[in-house]
Amino acid sequence: MTETQLRDLLVKMADSLFARGFSVGSAGNISVRTPDGGYLITPTNSSLGWLDAARISKLDADFRHVDGDKPSKEVVMHRAFYTARGDAGAVVHLHSTLATAVSCLPDVDWNNPIPPLTPYFVMRVGRRMPIIAYFRPGNPAMESTIHAAAKNARAVLLANHGPVVSGKTLTDAVYAAEELEEAAKLFLMLRGSSPRTLTPGQVDDLLETFG
Ligand SMILES: [Zn+2]
Repeated sequence: MTETQLRDLLVKMADSLFARGFSVGSAGNISVRTPDGGYLITPTNSSLGWLDAARISKLDADFRHVDGDKPSKEVVMHRAFYTARGDAGAVVHLHSTLATAVSCLPDVDWNNPIPPLTPYFVMRVGRRMPIIAYFRPGNPAMESTIHAAAKNARAVLLANHGPVVSGKTLTDAVYAAEELEEAAKLFLMLRGSSPRTLTPGQVDDLLETFG
């Protein structure tokens, strides 16, 4: 996909997330690797519903701002994923309500708060999605913590803040963020009712079959 096509797809997918309430106001940011080795990322204080393809921030391979509007102040969490995961082609960060609700619960397993309830959650998000301790938004100190967690996880949940999700492509990352929000909804609906989850063998089978 060319950079122009990536810009247009980013605007379209961001608008779709905004229209369906996955993001409100200027919350959330999205980045994608470009064919020249750089990155596109949504600008600071921009709304996912009103992006201009020509003004999206362009970063070089070292994450220096080279074109477009000033990048999101949350760029460090994106960089943490790209440097930890060679397979990450895009990163989506949202403040989506139900995943964020899970990140605020005191009594969940911080190593993996959402159990494998459905196959698509496992296929899109993976075996494990840890919670990362709270950091003030934009605090550069979060980068090393996210980087360490991202080595073993395609997605993390920032405590009292929201999810950061990677994918091989922009479409993969957006679909994974959407699947995560739906999994959080199921998890919250089923709390206290001892739901049947997928077995470790079923999870292994999914990951062996679909990667
Ligand atoms: Zn945020």
